[in-house]
Amino acid sequence: MRVRIGVCCILSMLGLAHAAEPIPQTTTPPIEVYITVDWEGDTLEPDNIAAMQRFRQRFSTIPLLQLLNPAYFFKPGADANAINATIRSTLLPIDTLGLHLHGWQHWVAHCGVTFQSQPQFAAAPLSASEAGVTVSLEHAYSQAALTQLIGCASQWMVGQGYPRPRHFRAGGWQLGPKLTAALEQHGFVWDSSVIQAALLTTRWPKDSALVTSLHRLHPQVPDLAQPYALTPSLMEYPNNAGLADYATSQQWVQLFEQLISSEHSVMVLGFHQESADDFLTILAQVIPRFEAIAAQHQRRLRWMP
Ligand SMILES: [Zn+2]
Repeated sequence: MRVRIGVCCILSMLGLAHAAEPIPQTTTPPIEVYITVDWEGDTLEPDNIAAMQRFRQRFSTIPLLQLLNPAYFFKPGADANAINATIRSTLLPIDTLGLHLHGWQHWVAHCGVTFQSQPQFAAAPLSASEAGVTVSLEHAYSQAALTQLIGCASQWMVGQGYPRPRHFRAGGWQLGPKLTAALEQHGFVWDSSVIQAALLTTRWPKDSALVTSLHRLHPQVPDLAQPYALTPSLMEYPNNAGLADYATSQQWVQLFEQLISSEHSVMVLGFHQESADDFLTILAQVIPRFEAIAAQHQRRLRWMP
């Protein structure tokens, strides 16, 4: 009797059986989480910078989308070398660098645009280093002025040795059609200025100027809003999990579980450089939780960008 030994049996004898097994195909997209940093353009306090440095050492393989702000360079008495050294001490080569802009008076004036003090999306904090941080760029400036400001900020960052920014978040999430057009004109491809106002009501009253202005600028933003095209060349990545200043680790974990159990795959969260020492702990708590939850659900988790 002839013994027939099939390919699978030979491979099995050679200990290579797995090589013939089909690789499971999955169409489930990976979960993509963007961690953004809003550099407010206000202060560069050593405690906050040190908190960021510690975070980078602990999570050295997780990139940050660092949304830088040129306003630090235009405070009275600013030392550009020291500012650059401070900013760079928090960066890693895996990061993406973009822009975050507020209407700071000295920076606006540097760009050759007449400073506007109104309308504001909130009362300016008494601790603010100068005027303008709470001025709504979208409502206070014309499209031509905004185009000039975006170009000026981009050029300034390039002049300081940073890559030309293509990623953006507006101060106070104050993005509307004029700012969108200005971003498109300067080749920006990624914006994260859309937010669901409800993500801020942990700290901001429902009838505050910020929350009511966001209801008008970004009406009916769904839970965990996903990326969509704002213009043919500019994608909107809604800040769909908000920022650490307005969240708890428990809320972020719940949102992540909600994301996993939905058909969605993108989460955008973040923190401010100016309050990193107070709020980065929340992020440090949720990162291992997110990884554990994704593994439990057999979903790949990709830290973007
Ligand atoms: Zn900001």
